[in-house]
Amino acid sequence: MAELAINGGAPLRPGRWPSWPQQTSATVDNVLTVLSNSRWAVSGPRLDHPGFEERFADEFARFLDVEHCVPTANGTSSLLIALEALGIGVGDEVIVPGLTWVASASTVMAVNAFPVIVDVDPQTMCIDPEAVRAAIGPRTRAVSVVHLYSSVSDLDALRDLCRRHGLALIEDCAQAHGAEWNGRKVGGWGDVGAFSMQQVKLLTAGEGGSAVTRDRELYRRMYQLRSDGRSRVAAPRPNEMELSMTGEVMGSNYCMSELAAAVLSGQLRELPAQNTHRAANARALDALLEEIPGVTPVAALPQVTRRTYYYYAFRIDPEAFAGHRAETVAAALQAETSAPFQPVYPPLPRHPLLRPATKRRYDAIPGIEKITEQMLPGAETAYREQVTLHHSALLAEPERMGELAEAIAKVQRHAGDLTAPSTASDNPL
Ligand SMILES: *Cc1c(COP(=O)(O)O)cnc(C)c1O
Repeated sequence: MAELAINGGAPLRPGRWPSWPQQTSATVDNVLTVLSNSRWAVSGPRLDHPGFEERFADEFARFLDVEHCVPTANGTSSLLIALEALGIGVGDEVIVPGLTWVASASTVMAVNAFPVIVDVDPQTMCIDPEAVRAAIGPRTRAVSVVHLYSSVSDLDALRDLCRRHGLALIEDCAQAHGAEWNGRKVGGWGDVGAFSMQQVKLLTAGEGGSAVTRDRELYRRMYQLRSDGRSRVAAPRPNEMELSMTGEVMGSNYCMSELAAAVLSGQLRELPAQNTHRAANARALDALLEEIPGVTPVAALPQVTRRTYYYYAFRIDPEAFAGHRAETVAAALQAETSAPFQPVYPPLPRHPLLRPATKRRYDAIPGIEKITEQMLPGAETAYREQVTLHHSALLAEPERMGELAEAIAKVQRHAGDLTAPSTASDNPL
C-alpha cells in the first residue's frame, strides 16, 4: 500500500531540478553597469548612450519582429495600457477566455468595461473561436486572448472574426515568449501583444512587462499611458530628459526601471537556446507519455511552427487514474519527483481572486457580479483532467525526462491507492 511516495513510500527518484530564474554573467554585468551610473530609470537625465530600457525595447521588438515595444512595470499594466490605448471604457464589452490568470478579467474591469468570459477549446485550453463568435454583441469592442501554457490560440480564426466584426484583438503573450504561428512570432498578430516578465515566466526580471505593436499611433498612446501621460523625446541629447510633458492623454506610471531592463537585456540572450532546449525535452516527454495508459499530452494546432513551453501539459483520463482529479495526481507526482507538477487554473468564473463585489469601483459596471455565476464545461474539464509541469524542469538534462515519465507511469499504476484531499472538488486552489 505504501508504494507511492505521497502515501509514505520511497520516492521514485528524489532529485533536484533546475532552479528558475537562471543568473548569467551578462545579467550581472548589466545590473552592475546600471548601479555604477546615475540613471536608474527613464525619468533620470540621459547618459551619453541609450539606457537599458531603450535597448531592451529595441532588442525585444527585433526578437518578435514587430515595430514597437513599450516596456512596462508588469504584464497587468501592459494589458491595461492596451485597453486604454484602444479607447475601451464604460459600456464596452471585451471577450476573454475562461481559463487564464485573473488579470485577463481584472484589467477589463479596471477600465470600467465588462469582461465577457467564454469557454475554451478542450484541445488547446485556449479561447474557443466558436464561443467568441457566439458572444459578440453590439457592445463588444475587443477580444483579449491568451496563449496558454504551451498552446497558441487559433489566431487565423480570431483575426478573421475580429476583422469581420470591427473588433480589436489583444494577444496576451505572458506565457509564450518566442512562440510562432505560421512562421511569425506571437504578439505581432493582434493589434497589441502584452507580455509579462514576472518571476515564473519564460523571460523574467522578477517583475516586468512589455506591450508591443506594429501600429505607430497605438505605440505613441501606450508609451504615454505608461509614462504618466508624458511623451517620448525623439532624439534626446546627453543630460536631457527622455520624457517631455507634452502628451495628449492622461496616463499612469507603469514604467520599467533600468535595473529590470538590464536584467531582461541579459536574459533575452538566453531565451532562444532555452526555448529550443525545453522544446526538445517536451518532444521526448511526448513520446514517453504515449506508452502510459490514459495519458495524452496537449497537442498544438498545426499552424504553430514554433512551440514554447511555459507549462508542459497533459490530460489524464479519469478512468485510467481511478477517477482522481489532476490536483491529486499532480501532488502524487511532486512527491515522487520533487518536480513542479500542478493542476491548471480554476475556471475564471470561480477563480478565488475574481471578486467583483469587493471594490466599490466596480459598481460602475452594471451586472458585473454575474460573471462569477457562469459554468464553463471546457474549462471545468481542463481543471479536472489537465496536469502541468513548470518549464524549469524542461531545462534539465534530456536523460531526466525518463524520470518524469517513470513517475507518471508509477502513479497511474497505483492510482487506486491515492486519496483525494477532503476539499478537492470544491477548493479551487
Ligand atoms: C502572468 C500573467 C499575467 C500578469 O502578468 P504580471 O506581470 O504578473 O502582471 C497576465 N496574463 C497571463 C496569461 C499571465 O500568465
